[in-house]
Parts: sequence; structure tokens; C-alpha cells
Amino acid sequence: MLLKKLVLSGFKSFGKTTTFEFPSDVTAIVGPNGSGKSNVAEGIRWVLGEQSMKSLRGKRGEDLIFNGSDKASRLGKAEVKLVFDNSSKQFPYEFDEVVFGRRVLRDGTNEYLLNSSVVRLKDIFELLSRVGIGSTQHHIISQGEVDRILWATPAERQEMIEEALGLKEFHLKKKDASKKLTETENNVKQVEAQRREVTPHLTYLSQQAEKMKAFEEYRVDLNKKIKEYVDRETATINSLKGEHNKDKEPLAKTKKELEDAIAVLNKEIQTAEQEFSGVKAREDIHGKLSELEDRHKSLNRELGRIEGALTAETHNTSGSISLSVFMRELKEAVSFVDNLMQQESFEALKSGLKDVKVKLEGLGKLCAGDKTQGGGGDNPLGAKKQLLLTQLAQIERSLSVVQSEREEGGLMREDMLSDLREREQKLRSHEHELESVREQLREIEFSESKYKERDEELANFVKDLNIKHEPQKDANMFGTDKERQSLHRDIERLRIKLEEAGGIDGGVVDEYKETKKRDEFLSTELADLKKAEKSLADLMHELDEKLHKEFRLGLDNINKEFQKFFNDVFGGGKALLIYVEPVTNEEGEEEGGGVDIDLDIPKKRLKSLDMLSGGERALTSIALLFAMSAVHPPPFLVLDETDAALDEANSQRYADLLKDLSTKTQLVVITHNRTTMAEAGVLYGVTMSGEGISKLLSLKFGQAAEFAK
Ligand code: ATP
Repeated sequence: MLLKKLVLSGFKSFGKTTTFEFPSDVTAIVGPNGSGKSNVAEGIRWVLGEQSMKSLRGKRGEDLIFNGSDKASRLGKAEVKLVFDNSSKQFPYEFDEVVFGRRVLRDGTNEYLLNSSVVRLKDIFELLSRVGIGSTQHHIISQGEVDRILWATPAERQEMIEEALGLKEFHLKKKDASKKLTETENNVKQVEAQRREVTPHLTYLSQQAEKMKAFEEYRVDLNKKIKEYVDRETATINSLKGEHNKDKEPLAKTKKELEDAIAVLNKEIQTAEQEFSGVKAREDIHGKLSELEDRHKSLNRELGRIEGALTAETHNTSGSISLSVFMRELKEAVSFVDNLMQQESFEALKSGLKDVKVKLEGLGKLCAGDKTQGGGGDNPLGAKKQLLLTQLAQIERSLSVVQSEREEGGLMREDMLSDLREREQKLRSHEHELESVREQLREIEFSESKYKERDEELANFVKDLNIKHEPQKDANMFGTDKERQSLHRDIERLRIKLEEAGGIDGGVVDEYKETKKRDEFLSTELADLKKAEKSLADLMHELDEKLHKEFRLGLDNINKEFQKFFNDVFGGGKALLIYVEPVTNEEGEEEGGGVDIDLDIPKKRLKSLDMLSGGERALTSIALLFAMSAVHPPPFLVLDETDAALDEANSQRYADLLKDLSTKTQLVVITHNRTTMAEAGVLYGVTMSGEGISKLLSLKFGQAAEFAK
């Protein structure tokens, strides 16, 4: 027993909350016309999601709310609850009861409830389809609608049969899959369009990013090379500095020593030269000597002449001094004095004066006729000769003195000179050496200026590049300048490349990464969507196949039961449901198709269903309805005066069929037919009160049959 309870509150004529319990396989609702019996069936139809107001005999939701009467005021809300037993867990809930609810307010608010929680209509349908209750509500046969299945189009009929066979679930699934497929196809189109948009931009960004990558590589390489350059150039300059200092220091020291030594030597040479010039002052000895020698020669010549004259005198006896002789002698004396006047040395002056004295004495004697003079005694020539001899003797003495003086002075001078020469030579050698040292120092300074230039260049280089880098101490020096220049060129080349690449926006890489990520995401999404598309298409195909197979099988089974019930009711004849395949039109859509009914009533030639009488139509419909319910029993069936058109004999057949069917399906029948009532386990009597409100009177189990009698 699935159906447990129905509670109507404010629904149509049920102005007061009324509860119907369904403890029996067959529940009959009886009562006078207009008491509200059909409202019960409609309550069940409505709570299970009926959308057609027409089938609820109303126009608006408001029409379902108790409208009041002369004695009872109208209500603001209609609510119906249908309680199902779920102890066998037919519904996927752990509760033993599942309560479907629906309410409508006068403002039009319409709500569905499931165990008191508001849910969507879709949820209600889904849940009901699990227990074989579909939205076509073929299991609720309203008053006068028993032959609905006969009047239905083949397509509608097919739907009813499919629902009765419990295939509605497949349809729902198919519909769901189809909806999802359409959504997926739209999504695929959207994603493909997005990808088409992204692709050219991505290609452009990828090229830019490649350039940027190369730019990055250049930058890294450049930084590396700059650091290497700075390290190595610093090391090279430092090494050059060290070497120069190493060479320069001893040279500077040598230079200083040489300069000192030269200064000392210059001083010594100056002193020596002064000393030497002192010795040189006595160099007049030479003059004196030559003068003495000249004097000596002249005296000797004079002596020779005198002696010649004396010899001649021996032949000339006059014995007096001639004037010429006197003048000559006087002239000589004067020349002596002249000589003396030029003498500086006191000794020479003294000696010269002696000579002058002798000369003058000789001249005196000559004038006096001194015969003692000269070899001849008082002969003036002889005196003169004597004088000359004296003078010669004196000069020879002087010569010997001067000569020995000269010898002494000469030796000293030579010593001094050689000493001086030695010093001068040493000075020259020192000066030479100093010049060489200076040359070396100049060379060092020249190369120093070069590395100072390099130092400056390096500082400018670092400044220009605006880099902060502490040079490494253990860096390798440049082996050659060529090596340095080569690295410098590499740096310049890289800088140019970087400048050329400078036009690329740095954000391009981020944008590329983002766009690539987006493209990858879209690609993955597209793959997923296509996969989903395929699996949905597969599912739809599977569902189609299954549906088709189950439907054909179900239809065969219904046909068997239909034929059987038809035979029972009509005592023979033919009743057959025929499946007509739909036709695919030019647009590729399926049309036509459905289920036709082929009937053959004994002794009658039916050209169409229209030719059936009301009772025949009702019987055929009941046969088909029961056949469908027998093949796939619904959890319950509500039959509102389905038996209305039956005569007594057929009412009995109907009652028998009900009995049969109630073993498989819970039945709620609304009837005026006593034969039908007799089959009920529970009988509800509905009456209309004076307030215009439907009221309930229940008779349970055996009481019903009793009541029916
Ligand atoms: P019959 O045996 O003749 O088929 P019934 O017992 O099935 O009659 P219903 O058709 O269920 O009767 O009930 C109709 C009654 O319900 C009418 O009297 C009608 O006035 C009443 N009714 C319908 N809608 C409302 C409403 N909104 N408010 C109050 N009463 C209503």
C-alpha cells in the first residue's frame, strides 16, 4: 500500500481540513451529486503537479481555494497533502513517509512541498516518475474522461502508453540529455568562438614572448658579461698597479740615491776645482821659468856678444864706452824693470830687482871706466861680461829654484787632476745612470697614466650602465688587451640588441602566460565538452534504443492483456494497438507516428471509433486501461465514475476487473455504483454541509459492503 493519506485544507469545497486515509486496496468515495467527490480526485491530481486548470475545472489558481458561502467565509489558501508510505523505500528517502504538498494563495503564489520543504515542480515529477506516476496522469481518470485514451491522437496515446509502461523516465532522461546536449553544443560553439578570438592574439603574444625571452636571455648574458668585464678589468688594473709599484719603488730609491750621490760629487768636484785653481795660481811658474829661460838665453846671447866685442876690443884700444853701448845697457835695464813690473810674486820681484841693481851697477862701472869689470878689469866690456856672468849665475839659480818648484807643483796638480777626473767620470756615470733610471720611471709613469685612464674608463663604464657590482677579488685578469676588447665588443653588441628589443612591452609575457592559460583552459574545456557531447549523444542513442525496445515489448504485452480484457468485456472480437513509425520530414524532423487502435467488436463492423456507443467506448477504454495497468501496475489508480456508463452486467464485469487489478494496484474509486462500492475495503461518504463545505463520513472494511446493500 503506497497511498496512505490525503489531507485537503481549503481546497475547493473542502473549507475545513479533511483527511482521507487509504488503508485498503480499494477505497470507494460515495456521496450525492455535487457533494465534492470529484474535488477529492482533483485534489490528488493537483498535488501531483497538474498544470492544466481546465482539467481541474477552473480558470485560475484562486478558483481552487475555498470560496466561502453564506455561512462560511472564504479562505486565503488552499493546501493539499498526499502522504505515501515509504517503508519499502520506493522513494529515495530514508523516511518511512513521503509527503507531497502543494498550496496556492489568492495572490497567485503556488508552491510545491516535499516533506514540508519547498521544491520545484521538476523535483516532484522526477520523484513521481520513480514510482511510475507520470505527468500525463493516466492513473487518475477524471469523471467522463475514461475514454480520453480513445480520443487521443496516436502520438498522445503513445505518450500515455509509454508513461503507463514506466518509460516516461527514459523520456525524461532523454529530454534531460537532449537539453544538456543542446547546452553543450552551444557551449562548444561559444568556446570555439572564444578560441578563434584568442588564437591570433595568442600567436602574436607568443612571438612577442619569444622576443621577450631572447631579450631576457640577452639581458642575463649582458649582466653576466658586464660583471665579468668589471671583475677582470679591476683585477687587471690592480695587477698593473701592483707591478708598477713594485718596479717603481726600487727605481725611485735608486733615483734618490743617484741624485744624492751626484749632489755629493758635484760638491766634491767644486771643492776640488777650487783647490785645483789654487794650485793653478802657481802656474805662472811656467811663465817665470820661460822668462828665466828667455833671460838666460838673452844673457847668454849678450854674453856671447860681449865676449865677441871683447875679442874685437883687443884690436880696439880706445877703452872708453860708446854711447850706443851705454844706451843699449840702459835699455836692457829698463826692460828688466818692465819685466819686474809685471811680476806678482814677491820672490820674483826681489830677484828681478837684484838683476836690475846688478845691471845698473854694471852700467855705472861702464860709465866710470871700471877696468875691473869684464875679463879686462877696468874694461867696460869685461865688466859687462862679468855682470852678465853674475846675472847668468843668478838666473841659473833662479831657474833651478823655479824648476824644482815646477816639478813639485806639477806632481800635485796631476794628483788633483786625476782625482778630479775620477770624480767627474763617476759623476758622468751617475748622471748617465740617473738618466736611465729617469727614463724607466718616465716609462712607468707613461704606462701608469695608461692604466689610470683604464681606471677612469672603467669607472665611467660602471656609471654609464648604472650598475651596482662589487668586483670579485679572485677574478681572472685579462690575458691580453685583445681579450678585453673582445669582451667589451660583446657587451656593446648585446646592448644594441637590447636597445633594439626595447620596444617590447614587459607585460607581454604575463599577458602571454595568461592568454596561453586561457587558451589551454578553453582547449581542455572544449575537449571536455566534446567528450560530454559525445557521451550525451551516445546516451540519447542508448535511451532511444532502450525506449524503442521496451516500448515495443510493452506494447506487445499490453496487446495481449487488452485482447484478453476485451474478450472478457465483449465476449470476443479484436482489440489491437498498432505502432506507427514516425516519418522524417525534409527538415529532418520526425512527424506522425504513434499508436493506432484497431478494434473489432463481435457482430459489428466498426469503421471508426466514433461508431462505438458510450458504454462500448467506456468498456474499451476500461479494457485498455486495465491492460496497461496489468502490464505495468501503477502504484495507485483513481477512477472517478469510470463505471458511470455501464449497465448492470458490465458493472459486475467491471467490479471483477477491479478486484483483479486491486491485487496489483491500489485503487481509489468514486462511484455511484453499488456493485463497485461492494468491492471497497473502505468507503467514504462525502456530503455537502449547510455551510457549503464538503464533509466526510467513513465506513471501514466490512461496513462498506453493508453500506452498499
Ligand atoms: P457529482 O456526483 O455530481 O459528480 P461531485 O460530488 O463530484 O458531484 P464535485 O463536482 O466534486 O461534486 O463538487 C462540486 C461542488 O464543489 C460544487 O457544489 C461546487 O460549488 C463546489 N465547489 C467547487 N469549487 C469550489 C470552491 N472554490 N469553493 C467552494 N465550493 C466549491
